[in-house]
Amino acid sequence: MDNAIRVEHLSKEYPGFALRDLSFSVPRGSIVGLIGENGAGKTTTLNAILGLIRPEQGQVELLGRRYDPQNPEHRRRIGVVFDESGFPPHLTGAAIGKMMHLVYRELWDAAAFEGYCRRFALPQNKEIRDFSRGMKTKLSIAAALSHHPELLILDEPTGGLDPIVREEILDLFSEFIQDERNSILFSTHITTDLEKIADQILFLHKGELVFSRSKDDLIYQHAVARCTSAQFAAIAPEEYLRRRSLPGGGEELLVGDREGFARRHPQVVLDRAGIDEIMLFYVKGESK
Ligand code: ATP
Repeated sequence: MDNAIRVEHLSKEYPGFALRDLSFSVPRGSIVGLIGENGAGKTTTLNAILGLIRPEQGQVELLGRRYDPQNPEHRRRIGVVFDESGFPPHLTGAAIGKMMHLVYRELWDAAAFEGYCRRFALPQNKEIRDFSRGMKTKLSIAAALSHHPELLILDEPTGGLDPIVREEILDLFSEFIQDERNSILFSTHITTDLEKIADQILFLHKGELVFSRSKDDLIYQHAVARCTSAQFAAIAPEEYLRRRSLPGGGEELLVGDREGFARRHPQVVLDRAGIDEIMLFYVKGESK
């Protein structure tokens, strides 16, 4: 399959933290969500993909070739939104449009930028320093989309935004992906956003990739088994992925084969597992 992003054996070390041997891909035409607890390595991964930090090891290909951030042709095909907009704070929204025109030249679509600014109700004559956090994010997304990239890479684009704006941004992402050449990789803590729009989920924990799975598989195949100590004694360790002992006695198990487990243990209560719950099991639960 044609990949928008291909990462192989990426490693990066900081004092007290290491991103270890990360390999994954983002298929063209898909929306991939990168999740993990605070400090799991999401921003480090995105920085390494974009060549903003130098990894100790690993290969990254964006849109079919090794990414060269110095190459304007390559850079133009990628839209990037990080936490800080990076725009000069004394510029107005309108001035940002002019600045971006100089950077992206013929690729810059001034009408699209104005359209996004209108859609997001962004003032054209207010300085960026007086924008709220949500306004800055919306401006960054408007700018990232207005040179018609094929790949969007965003670090927590919906963090700190109200639910209405979040919805607007998710709608924009869905529109963007209507063109099947386009792809999105974004990090987030808001798992309901992922449940709405992600095709695939990458879960990082302490710098390691726990899984890269299709969202549908993840949600339909995982389940939480809530069992008494006696029921737990009859379950083999290979039948579950993680476990959590309940304070009042009994165990909760994260199961990766919902239907098989239900057949073998019809007496055990089995609930669907949301993405938050699956993450919690990996972060807080015990392996076996
Ligand atoms: P959050 O959800 O809080 O944004 P994250 O998953 O994006 O977290 P990172 O920002 O990638 O996590 O940080 C991962 C680890 O790398 C942290 O322990 C952080 O302190 C460390 N780290 C990141 N950048 C640097 C740096 N420039 N120098 C030293 N350590 C760093």
